[in-house]
Amino acid sequence: MNRLAQTHSARTGRGKSWLNGELMPIEEAKVSVLDHGLLYGDGIFEGLRFYGGRPFKLSRHLQRLRQSAQALCLDFGYSDDELAQGVQDCVAGSGLSDGYIRILVTRGEGNLGINPSHCGRATVVILAAEMELVCEDKKRLGLRLITASTKRVTGSGLDCRVKSLNYLHSILAKTEANHAGADDALLLNVQGLVAECSAANIFIVKQGQLFTPPVTDGALEGITRETVIELAESMSLGFLEQSMSPWDIYTADECFISGSAARLLPVASLDGRKLRQINGPVLTALQKAFIQKVSRG
Ligand code: PMP
Repeated sequence: MNRLAQTHSARTGRGKSWLNGELMPIEEAKVSVLDHGLLYGDGIFEGLRFYGGRPFKLSRHLQRLRQSAQALCLDFGYSDDELAQGVQDCVAGSGLSDGYIRILVTRGEGNLGINPSHCGRATVVILAAEMELVCEDKKRLGLRLITASTKRVTGSGLDCRVKSLNYLHSILAKTEANHAGADDALLLNVQGLVAECSAANIFIVKQGQLFTPPVTDGALEGITRETVIELAESMSLGFLEQSMSPWDIYTADECFISGSAARLLPVASLDGRKLRQINGPVLTALQKAFIQKVSRG
């Protein structure tokens, strides 16, 4: 095994991949340097977790993948059943009980020009591997956020609901957080309203009521976000989708982020303003219900 492959497999740990219908070890899955996913970020993806060998909300993730594909006029030749089988094969082949699944579809191999109509068939990749985003301490102490100067651009033609392979806004925001010594960045939209974090949605709690911004303020339609809303409803917790500014977060009782990789994580501070409660009663109750739900499948 060469050095690069060693580093790569050390990073991913155990895992399995599926490339255009073929199951193989992750280190052996390769795509062309002429793939427009690499050349232009022309593609889409999904990230989800599996618990006890069962992918959580796979059909909803496949639906969102198809919605992203539809928005980008990206046809790919696999049915949901074939993708679900690929996911199951990767999960079984990974040897893991709990882990993370990445499904990605690129425009495929083309020439050096941008025109997608010169590309052949789409490249479809599924990966199942280990994924731990934060250390245990962060789950207890909460995340320190900064407000990024990078904005979520709404109304630009590329809807933030498309989960595209181009994550440069998120990466710039995360880089700002890294430089500031923070854990993650909050992105506002060009109107100054809260959109989301670099790879997660955001919630606040005020006087026992839960709030999150509408996705039209520049957020992904997060599936964990949807799960939190379902849980809040089943727990008869007041919930409102409402535009918010950083002020609403500074003055909240609790704040947390949601994502398939992150799950539910408390926010300790935003721009140095400490939140009143980290792992407060609402987040604690939601986390308990979330764990029960994912373990039921
Ligand atoms: N926003 C962005 C930008 C993300 O990348 C993610 C992670 N997929 C989320 C929100 C959360 O979405 P989900 O709960 O579907 O993982």
